[in-house]
Amino acid sequence: MGYGAKSARILALANQKGGVGKTTTAINLGTALAAVGERVLIVDLDPQGNASTGLGIDHRPLSTFDVLSGRAEIAQAAVPTHVPRLSIVPATVDLMAFEREAASAGNKHYRLRDCFAAMTAAEPQDATYILIDCPPSLNLLTVNALAAADAVLVPLQCEFFALEGLAQLLGTVEEIRVRLNPKLHIHGVVLTMYDQRTSFSDQVVKDVRQVLGEKVYTTVIPRNVRVAESPSHGKPVLLYDYRCSGSQAYIQLASEVIERERRMRAA
Ligand code: ADP
Ligand code: MG
Repeated sequence: MGYGAKSARILALANQKGGVGKTTTAINLGTALAAVGERVLIVDLDPQGNASTGLGIDHRPLSTFDVLSGRAEIAQAAVPTHVPRLSIVPATVDLMAFEREAASAGNKHYRLRDCFAAMTAAEPQDATYILIDCPPSLNLLTVNALAAADAVLVPLQCEFFALEGLAQLLGTVEEIRVRLNPKLHIHGVVLTMYDQRTSFSDQVVKDVRQVLGEKVYTTVIPRNVRVAESPSHGKPVLLYDYRCSGSQAYIQLASEVIERERRMRAA
């Protein structure tokens, strides 16, 4: 199976706040999309490499850094996971050198986009979804993700300061749309770590829906201990415990993402 980007929808999972569920959503939305027949490639763009570790990828001969610095093609660096139809380009700490290395070269914002473009030419068999797991920062790596993506998926943790920092993220997305990537838009905002035991979580959901309206997915991801445990077993939660509330929520999110795609394509 190849990973051509020609017909793939490229979604960047971005939020400069750490710990809001970007990586968890990349792994589990990716798994849920693959489970319904999509061909999914995750690109780990965080030097911490949590998406790679969470999917049980320990051995990383080639990484996103090799891809971005032109030493390897995406198809060479992509490794299969335990999930059928789900592959990942893993990250290593090397990726921290990207900012420094790219600063001197031209074209530094479009490195990832150009890698996807090269992949299209080389690989006729396409991935249908590419999910980019961004680092917790609006740095050059995240700019590369936003310059290469069709749309942004924003995980937002159900916490008191949920909306804090969102204006900055939306401002960055808008700036990149104007300067680097005219097609970029917000695919949706997914509320994560919702705690049904507190009325406070409900209030956050209400407030966020009031401010962001239809951009917020109907699906809310509950706080669920199985979701938090699964990465230490190197598995998506859907393989670790299919029945738990977290797995079911990610399945629902996947169908909502596909449905939004359908509507956007029809419009
Ligand atoms: P980010 O990539 O935005 O930094 P992560 O996806 O790594 O965030 O999540 C931060 C922490 O919260 C991780 O330890 C993860 O296991 C945990 N977590 C994420 N989503 C859930 C959830 N729905 N229920 C319980 N724990 C979660
Ligand atoms: Mg992460």
